[in-house]
Amino acid sequence: MSGVRHTRACVRLAALEANCRAIAGRLAAGAEAAGRPAPALIAVVKANAYGHGAAAVARTLERGGAAMLACADIEEGVALREGGVRLPILVFGALGISDLDGVFTHRLTPTVSTPSAAASLEAAAARRGVTLGCQLEIDTGMHRLGFRHDNLRRTLPSVVASPHLRIEAVYTHFATAEDPAHPLFEEQRVRFERVRAEAGALGLAPRAWHAANSAALLRDERVWYDAVRPGLLLYGVSPTPGPAPAGVEPVLSLESRIVAVKGLRAGEGVSYGWRFVAGGPRTIAVVPAGYADGLDTRMSGRASVLVRGRRAPVVGAVCMDMLMVDVTGTDVAPGDPVVIVGRQGTEEIGVRELAEATGTIPYEWLCRVGTRIERVYD
Ligand SMILES: *Cc1c(COP(=O)(O)O)cnc(C)c1O
Repeated sequence: MSGVRHTRACVRLAALEANCRAIAGRLAAGAEAAGRPAPALIAVVKANAYGHGAAAVARTLERGGAAMLACADIEEGVALREGGVRLPILVFGALGISDLDGVFTHRLTPTVSTPSAAASLEAAAARRGVTLGCQLEIDTGMHRLGFRHDNLRRTLPSVVASPHLRIEAVYTHFATAEDPAHPLFEEQRVRFERVRAEAGALGLAPRAWHAANSAALLRDERVWYDAVRPGLLLYGVSPTPGPAPAGVEPVLSLESRIVAVKGLRAGEGVSYGWRFVAGGPRTIAVVPAGYADGLDTRMSGRASVLVRGRRAPVVGAVCMDMLMVDVTGTDVAPGDPVVIVGRQGTEEIGVRELAEATGTIPYEWLCRVGTRIERVYD
């Protein structure tokens, strides 16, 4: 039997389901107060469900009331179907140069996000003699994928005239929703409204419109439309600095165990390059988690882990398979539990805190939880 590694990601599916219900509840309450129907939940599970494990997460979100799932590419969509998902699955990515078979064999809903994707999807659907339900992405300012909002009269006619494509929904994506001071959010909202107003003239009659990622759905009820597309918030992490909204809790924790403890004398350094040199006697503990597990050498000197309920700073370079922490003054022994992300006793290190300490965003930290790390679901 192969053993279980000491470093593991614990994924609390009950918290995920509760987050899903908390977000749905917030949407229902807001919509009711405004006298309109609550938007549907398109739960974003791209990148292995932000590192949490796509199949288990998808099944939980299905139970939690998601109406649709969204992933990055056809391969992710196929993996979700093979994991038993029955909900509709939206594929965000550009498909113009992809092998499109999976769209048909695994009942995926592609996004028409470029003219070449429209042409490829139309040709593939025509070859099979089927009408393909798809969604249309409008670029209102992100300038990544989508048809430019200010050029639709020229670019849309051939798309809406495609006999084998049926546009079921139209969506856009915000570039600055997490920044309340940036004027682009409001500009994008107005541009999308303009597209809605001109839909008839453009030949568009979708069943649904949607726009909001986590940050947008939290900041402005006007962009809820018929559906919202949260990712990060479902996993219990706030898209903006500050705590997550009420009822939303972190789903993932990253845990390990100390495998060795040793003393350092004054003037001695630790790890590659001796980037940390002890000014006096220190106690160092070795944690078997390194950059091959998705951790990051930017943690050195900036981040801490929790040992015996206390913060222990990461010292010296993070190695491929290990990192070292300073536990001076704490009575630690091999086998003691270590929390890299999560709660221990009364202390907590959130993904957002770790991301801010290391100069990146929580999305990146979650996605980087490596393939070597076993996910343990409870
Ligand atoms: C990733 C993504 C989302 C979800 O974003 P969060 O910030 O995680 O809520 C929504 N829509 C699109 C198009 C995306 O690519």
